[in-house]
Amino acid sequence: MGQQDPALSVVVPMFNEEGVLPLLAERLRAVLDGLAEPYEVVAVDDGSTDATAAGLRGLRERWPQLRVVRLRRNSGHQAALIAGLMRARGGYVVSIDADLQDPPETIADMLALARAEKLDIVYGVRGDRSSDTAFKRLTAGAYYRLMRRLVGKQVPAQAGDFRLLSRAAVEALRDLPERTPVLRLVVPWLGFPSGEVHFLRAERAAGRTKYPFSRMLALAVESVTSFSAAPLRVATWLGLLGVAVCALLVIAVIVAYALGHTVIGWPSILLAVLFLGAVQLLCLGLLGEYVARIYTAVQARPAYFIASDSDPAETDPGDTAAPGQRRADDDPAVLADSRR
Ligand code: UDP
Ligand code: MG
Repeated sequence: MGQQDPALSVVVPMFNEEGVLPLLAERLRAVLDGLAEPYEVVAVDDGSTDATAAGLRGLRERWPQLRVVRLRRNSGHQAALIAGLMRARGGYVVSIDADLQDPPETIADMLALARAEKLDIVYGVRGDRSSDTAFKRLTAGAYYRLMRRLVGKQVPAQAGDFRLLSRAAVEALRDLPERTPVLRLVVPWLGFPSGEVHFLRAERAAGRTKYPFSRMLALAVESVTSFSAAPLRVATWLGLLGVAVCALLVIAVIVAYALGHTVIGWPSILLAVLFLGAVQLLCLGLLGEYVARIYTAVQARPAYFIASDSDPAETDPGDTAAPGQRRADDDPAVLADSRR
């Protein structure tokens, strides 16, 4: 951390959030000004196509701590979050959704807890999701149960992407070779001392959700395959089961042959063909999931492109540094860090 670095950075990914912007600015600013410490707000405009960019420009005139990082195109919530985290300079970095479902007031509690107990990570845990739809609650419940089994009990249930990270935790994330880690799984896995702050999840202040079911499903598949080879093992077990069933069928066929019933054997043949076909297809699909991950990892394409950063210290607006892609020679943010 350099000398002028703020004590706190607040990263807010936003995609087409023109409706909530004034409300967000008002509530967030009240909280952060109240801390009486230097801070920055890193608004990551995830390629919005509405008036979000203009709104942010307008806000910046009256709010010097607001920094706007614009991504060249819509890259998704996780990528926008990572873009913001990687460029934040604060000693502590809080990530929060723009739609005011996570109350900004909780940030003060997170910071106080982190300092009082010397924690590197403080999760915002949703105490009550009654404002979410029954469907969202159901799918989220299943997701977190599964993730706790796969990654371990250190994954807090019902903790989304509202959390505080210390500088050390952010640097640990930066040093990961993964470009698009699923943050809510990778962060607990880093193993830093952590705590929880509970809050009530409010309703979206304006606009509508940008997380349709297809995106939720994509996040779930990515979460599983990024943390576990268990599905591959399922394929193995299914294959073994298939072999066992086939062995039984072979015995049945031999018995049928001995009894002279071979002509009416077509159901068993059909069964075997169908069953094996199904097992093979399933295993191929599972392999495909991992091959796809290897493919994207090998391509190593940046998860996002910075179109601009309102921070004057950022001399390279086209920088595309991502986790694991430390480019100390041309990323001023990294340079500032290495001068510690
Ligand atoms: N978001 C984003 N890029 C996207 C989709 C969403 O930056 O492609 C932001 C969005 O503006 C919000 C946060 O991610 O600040 C969470 O999205 P949303 O509130 O729509 O998700 P939900 O709360 O419904 O799960
Ligand atoms: Mg939301």
